[in-house]
This record gives sequence, C-alpha cells and structure tokens, in this order.
Amino acid sequence: MALSGIQIFKMMPKKNCAECGVPTCLAFAMNLAAGKAELDQCPYVSDEAREKLASASAPPIRTVQIGAGDNAVKAGGETVLFRHEKTFNNPTALGCLVAASEDDATIDEKLKAFKELSYERVGLTLKAELVAVKDGGDPGRFAQVAKKASDAGAALVLMSDNVDTLKAALAEVGTQKPLLYAATAANLDDVSALAKEFDCPLTVKADKVGDVARLSAKLVEKGHKDIVLDSGSRKMSELIRDQVLIRRLALEKLYRPLGFPTIVFPCEMADNPVDEAITAGTFISKYGGIAILSDFRGEVLFPLLLQRLNIFTDPQRPMTTEQGIYPIGTPGDDSPILITSNFSLTYFIVSGEVESSRVPSWLLVLNTDGLSVLTAWAAGKFVGDLIGPFVKKSGIEEKTKTRKLIIPGAAAIISGDLEEELPDWEIAIGPREGAHIPAYLRQNYA
Ligand code: SF4
Repeated sequence: MALSGIQIFKMMPKKNCAECGVPTCLAFAMNLAAGKAELDQCPYVSDEAREKLASASAPPIRTVQIGAGDNAVKAGGETVLFRHEKTFNNPTALGCLVAASEDDATIDEKLKAFKELSYERVGLTLKAELVAVKDGGDPGRFAQVAKKASDAGAALVLMSDNVDTLKAALAEVGTQKPLLYAATAANLDDVSALAKEFDCPLTVKADKVGDVARLSAKLVEKGHKDIVLDSGSRKMSELIRDQVLIRRLALEKLYRPLGFPTIVFPCEMADNPVDEAITAGTFISKYGGIAILSDFRGEVLFPLLLQRLNIFTDPQRPMTTEQGIYPIGTPGDDSPILITSNFSLTYFIVSGEVESSRVPSWLLVLNTDGLSVLTAWAAGKFVGDLIGPFVKKSGIEEKTKTRKLIIPGAAAIISGDLEEELPDWEIAIGPREGAHIPAYLRQNYA
C-alpha cells in the first residue's frame, strides 16, 4: 500500500536543510509520494525509516537493466504519463529479431547492420541496443546465435518456450544478463528458477493485462525485481489500450504488479517495413520500454532513433550542441566561416544546408543556452560582445587565414557591434533562411 506524503513526512529527519534539492522535508516527502524523488537524495534518513520507506518510495515503474557492462541498456523508470509533465527517462530500447532458424548469412547480415547503423547527432551516438534471439528448435544453434549476437555488442533477449533451450544459451551468455522471454502461466516456476540461477531479468507474458498482473505479482512474491511485461496483444488498437492501461495503473494507482517496463513486437504486427516503422514509432511515443523490429534497416531505424531522441529529451531543457568549431567538408585556409547558435535544431538545419552546398566551410557554434538565433539575440546571448570574444578564443584564427565572418541574416542588427569587437574581421550578412545558404555559399565561394 502506497504511503501518503504526510505519512512519509512523519518519518523524515525534519532538518529542512534542502540538501535533497527542495527546501523542506515536507516538500521532499510529497515528491517521494508522487514518485518524483528518490529516497537516496536525503542523506539523513534513519535506517529504520529507510526500511519502512523503501517500497513506498520506489519509483512507480521500476528501471530494469538488460545486459551487462558496455552493452547494458535500461528500460522503465518512468514517472509521468506525458513528457511535458516532466520528462521521460529511459528511451525505448530498440532491437531486432534474429531467428536461430535463419541461415548464417542472414544472421551475419543483421548483426553487421546492428554494428554499423550508428549515427552521431547532438554529440550523442544513436543506435539500436538489443538483439532478440528466437529459438528455432535446436538448443545448440540457439546458444551459438546468442553468443554471436552478444559478441557483436548487443544486449540480448532470449526467446524460447523451452526452459532447457534457454538454459543452454545461458551457459554461453548468462554473464551478459540477457532478458528471458517469457515466463507464462505454463512455465512460470521453471523460468523463474532459471532467472534466479543466472540473476537475469525476465519477461512475463499473458493474453490479458489482468493475467500479466497476476503472474507478475507471483514473480514479485518469489523475489524477482527485474520484470518486463508483455500483454500479448499484437493488434495496434489493443496494444495501445494495454500500454496506456499499464502505465496509468502503475503511475496513478501505484499498482506494483504493473510497475515494470513493457516489451512490444512491431516485428509481429506488420508485414512491411513502412507499417513496422509506424508501429514502432507509435510505441516509442506510447510507453513501449523495449521494441523489437524484424530487421535493422537504416531507413527504418534512423527515423525511429530520431523520434526516440526527441521524445526522451527533457522538454524543460532545450537540446543543445556543444560550443566550438565544426568543419564541414574539408575546409582550408580560404573557406567561409559561418556562425550560429547552439540550439540543436538550428545547428542541424545550418550544418545540413552548408553540407548540401558542397562548399567546405567552418561553422562556429556559440553557446546560447540552447536558444535559437533570434531568441538568443533578444535574450542578449547572440550579440557582438559575446560573439567577438568567442571568435577570438575559439582558435579559428589559427586554423584559417580567412577573416570574414558570415552571421545569420536574422541577426544582421549585430553587425555594427561585431565590427567593433572584431576590428580585423569583415562581417558579412548571410541569408535569413537556412534554405538559402547553399545558393549563397555557391554564389560567393564555389
Ligand atoms: S535532505 Fe533530508 S533532511 Fe534535508 S530537507 Fe531534504 S528531506 Fe529534509
């Protein structure tokens, strides 16, 4: 039974020291009750209170780690229904189904794609994290494919109804803490014993949310903490209903048997890549903790990774690009130099347009706290007396003989100030719109 904020407050140290990040113990207790804080944030909670509060203050949806070491990925840990309320925490882990019954060439191709489909955006590496290995009836082959996928750097989902087959694979990759799929009403005790033996997370699967909850409660009774839920639905409307139901019961009613991340299978819900991408995208937005695709295709994976990046970034903090010098193409001594703000969207648009011009260029990115050019100018963060010192300290003068700085047309008003700040430089006013950059660069520099 969840404790109220007042009940939790009675057990708090009442120092009101604010070390937990809020001014009073009462505010902290309220946050704990709402699942918006963690007990460890208060260093003064007594052991006795900690014991009593541990389960009451546990996050409403547990964070479950799949995999070990560098290959580990986390799912769950969410505390809100809508990202604008606060933020979503652990991005939907994306994986691909590899059937042990497939031939070596197909499997190798999928694992090669797993390794190679990796994209750099806003200083982050975007890639899939998981391979779900599906039993093809031969335990030896299943274990061999699992090992191969693990060696490729994937966190694993081991999919088999046969406990002996799962055990054969765990003998090879058990130390990698794969997710076992799945404990059902028919094999719950055996899969539970296996998960305990190898200390692995496990999935519970049934055909209805109510049955999933009953099985999950049994696993909790047996001492399992790392559980993933599969409500069994493979129709879009039913699965959306299930995902929303699970999330709402976990967050709003603190219903512990459903307080775990979910796994969804777009690979079993669509028969072509477009529908599969749409399905996966739906469940990145609507609460899928893990989504398994049928293949790794760049044209499907890349948009999903970008969607995931957008959904799982903190809406209260603008996405930013690091301040610095970004060479585009292989710029040299006489290449143009442009400057923009570090709002990620601005950076992507400007760098993309410069790239498409095929004119090698230097792009300077100024830290404007994630504000776009015009907003940053209005806030005094994209102005001459900040840009000038930045240009001087950036090191661009050592990289090139060019002393002409192209500023965004939308910020033309700062050109006078900038000329004072950079007396050795010519200030050029570039296009107002990013779409006009290629023509501008080709016309002036090609
Ligand atoms: S750190 Fe602990 S004692 Fe200090 S205000 Fe927060 S809850 Fe109270």
